[in-house]
Amino acid sequence: MRWLPFFLLFAAPAASAAEGDAGALLHRLQSEVSADRIEADIVRLVGFGTRHTLSETESETRGIGAARRWIKAEFEAISADCGGCLEVFYVSDFVEGETRIPNRTEVVNVIALQRGRLDPDRVVMMSGDIDSRVSDPLNGVSDSPGANDNASGVAGVLEAARVLSREKFAGTIVYAALSGEEQGLYGGAILAKYAQENGWRIKAVLNNDMIGNIEGVDGVIDNATARVFSDGVRATETPEEARIRRFTGGEVDSPSRNLARYIDQLADDYIPNLDVMMVYRLDRFARGGHHRPFNDAGMPGVRIMETHEHYDRQHQDLRTEDGIAYGDVLSGVNFDYARKLTSLNVVALAAMASAPPFPANVEISGAVQPSTTLKWVRPVGRAAGNLAGYRVHWRLTDAPQWTHSVDVGDVAEYTLENIVIDNYYFGVSSLAKDGAESPVVFPGPAGSFGE
Ligand SMILES: [Zn+2]
Repeated sequence: MRWLPFFLLFAAPAASAAEGDAGALLHRLQSEVSADRIEADIVRLVGFGTRHTLSETESETRGIGAARRWIKAEFEAISADCGGCLEVFYVSDFVEGETRIPNRTEVVNVIALQRGRLDPDRVVMMSGDIDSRVSDPLNGVSDSPGANDNASGVAGVLEAARVLSREKFAGTIVYAALSGEEQGLYGGAILAKYAQENGWRIKAVLNNDMIGNIEGVDGVIDNATARVFSDGVRATETPEEARIRRFTGGEVDSPSRNLARYIDQLADDYIPNLDVMMVYRLDRFARGGHHRPFNDAGMPGVRIMETHEHYDRQHQDLRTEDGIAYGDVLSGVNFDYARKLTSLNVVALAAMASAPPFPANVEISGAVQPSTTLKWVRPVGRAAGNLAGYRVHWRLTDAPQWTHSVDVGDVAEYTLENIVIDNYYFGVSSLAKDGAESPVVFPGPAGSFGE
């Protein structure tokens, strides 16, 4: 067909995490992520021999000191390319007397911050971990390439900074290369404390830990899915908040869980050949990751990673035993898969940083009534400069994703007529003038993303 009537060209699209200009931006940004650059960065990080938290810090070529100085220099080069748009700095503290850090050790995170234009204290963060390990968690000397765990995550963070630093956003994006992960999640705890002390309103931490392995120990080869782990209930919930939740619901609607739903939807809308498996638990069974210290401090955060792990390639001394090659080496990383998961981070960071302030103080009412009413507080001033309005969402209580929504305009209260509160879960998202949408915020303390 040679032409279309204008009304067809401008037909209303289905509800999605971003529409219009924002949707076009996300499609473009995801396509700009480079597997070649990710590969080059992983090769460079592996080249430091070991990046163990207890490894030496004086050498320019080996150990975690050399690695973090190189990461900082990379962030500074990216910043130079965008006219100094990134603030690059270390956030560190000393740790000692711990099982895995017995002697006084400086745990150093490398941070790049891209400050938002309208709401600069509102932060979304992508993180990866600098440090690597072998079989003995205290061995800071042996070769410990950590190609997948977690050079892949750091390379993803660097690449996301390259792609996103060419754009301007309403909210702030933080790119974090964390340290001390394998020794007990120390770097994340240090940064969470720094964030609180500096007034960062953290809305999302996307912790990327192992985003490059596609050959599972279970025999499955899979480059088309990713896992997103999230807590169902806020770790900082008080007994009184738990009592209220028992009577009103919210067991599967923490801000971290709704962040996971948001990422799941973005993968469907923007990332070719990638489906998200939402896992309804904090992390792998009895295992840890660097989103947890942020969750512990009351901040929403999820773990993004490959679906099929290979344990012969994690935390192993480099060796061959009974014909099996052990170790976290370059050959275990699929760079195009790491690109795909990095693209997912890029669209999630861009969508949230483009969105207006997330709905705050969301309340719901409607017991023994035919209709359900949601209320929230509309922001004022500069932070609301890109606010277009709100979207009310609902779903059956056993549905994994939000299934129904209505755009309600720039109001602070809305009643869904003849929708009975008992039978659904409800939430509200904010919409920007360019179509960018925040995650859905479930009412009450159970679902709050904070102010
Ligand atoms: Zn690990």
